[in-house]
Amino acid sequence: MYDVIIIGSGPAGLTAAIYTTRADLRTLVIAGGKWGGQLMLTTLVENFPGFPEGIQGPELMQNMRKQAEHFGAEFVDEDFTSADFSQKPFKITASDKTYEGKSVIIATGADTKWLEVPGEKEKIGKGISSCAPCDAVFFRNKNVIVVGGGDSAMEEALVLAKFASSVTIVHRKDTFKASEIMQKRVKENPKIKIIFNSEITEVLGENKVTSVKIKNNKMGQVSEMPIDGIFVAIGHMPNTSKFKDIELDEMGFIKVHDHFLTNKEEVFVAGDVHDADYKQAITAAGYGCAAALEAEKYLREI
Ligand code: NDP
Repeated sequence: MYDVIIIGSGPAGLTAAIYTTRADLRTLVIAGGKWGGQLMLTTLVENFPGFPEGIQGPELMQNMRKQAEHFGAEFVDEDFTSADFSQKPFKITASDKTYEGKSVIIATGADTKWLEVPGEKEKIGKGISSCAPCDAVFFRNKNVIVVGGGDSAMEEALVLAKFASSVTIVHRKDTFKASEIMQKRVKENPKIKIIFNSEITEVLGENKVTSVKIKNNKMGQVSEMPIDGIFVAIGHMPNTSKFKDIELDEMGFIKVHDHFLTNKEEVFVAGDVHDADYKQAITAAGYGCAAALEAEKYLREI
C-alpha cells in the first residue's frame, strides 16, 4: 500500500515525487515504458532556472529522477493502463500489475497534435516527425517543412536549419504567436523561409514524403510543393484517455478543482495534463510541488 501513487514521470510527476518522499510518504511513480516526458525529446533547455548555460532535456530529467530515487521514490517503468477511483484504496494498473494507493497524483502530460490530413498518418516516422532534435539528422541536405507558429515551431526550424538545405515554416495565420526572441532568431536565419496564411491539406508520396498540397487560406488556391520531410509543431493533446471518471474541461484537459484536486477526493492533478496555458517545464514542476503538498496535507489529516 502506497501513500501516494504518481502517474507520469515528467517534471510534474518527478517534482511531486521529490516532495512526497521528503515528506516521508511511501511513493510509487508509474513512469511509463518511455519515462521522462517531453523533455526527453528536446536538446538544450535554456529557460529552466538554475542552469545559466542551459541543460540538455534528458540530463535534466535524469537528475530529477535521481533526486526522487535518492529520497526513496519507487519506480515502475511500465505504461499506465487503468485507474479505479470508485473505492479506497485506489487501484492503479500498469501493464498487468495493480498497485494500491491512499492518494493519487495524475501527471500524465500531453502528446503531439497531428495535422489529421490525408497522407499524414501512414508517414509518421517515414518523413513526418514531431521532434527535430530526434530526427533532424535524417534530413541532412534535404528540404523540409515545419508546421506551426508557436515557440515549438521556431525551435524545430532552428534545429533543422543546422542540417537541412532549406526549412520552410508553414503557418495558418499572418503572424506567429511565438516569443519575440525565437521569431527574431528564425527571421535572421538565411536557411529559413516562411509561408503565412497557409495550411497543408494533403501529404503525397509512396511510403515516404515527396510533396505536399498547400492551401492559401486567403485566396483559396491550392499548390503542390515538393518536399522531403515535414515536422509538425502545432501543440499537444493532454493524456487523459485512460481515465474513465475524471472530469475534463471543454478543451479536454483535466479540470482542476480546489487545491489541485480533480473531481475525485484525494486524486490530485499536476502539469501539462491540466495546463492549457503555460506548458513549461518549470510550471509543470511547480504544479507537481503544489499537488504533492496538497496530498501530504490530506494524508496528515486522515
Ligand atoms: P502553441 O500552442 O504555443 O502553438 C501552436 C501553434 O500551432 C500555433 O501557432 C497554432 O496556430 C498552430 N496550430 C494549432 N493547431 C493547428 C492545426 N491544426 N493546423 C495548423 N496549425 C495549427 O504550442 P507550442 O508547442 O509551440 O508551445 C507550447 C508552449 O511551450 C508555449 O507556451 C511555448 O512558449 C512553450 N515553448 C517554449 C520553448 C522555449 O522557450 N524555448 C520551446 C517550445 C515551446 P494559431 O497561432 O493560429 O493558434
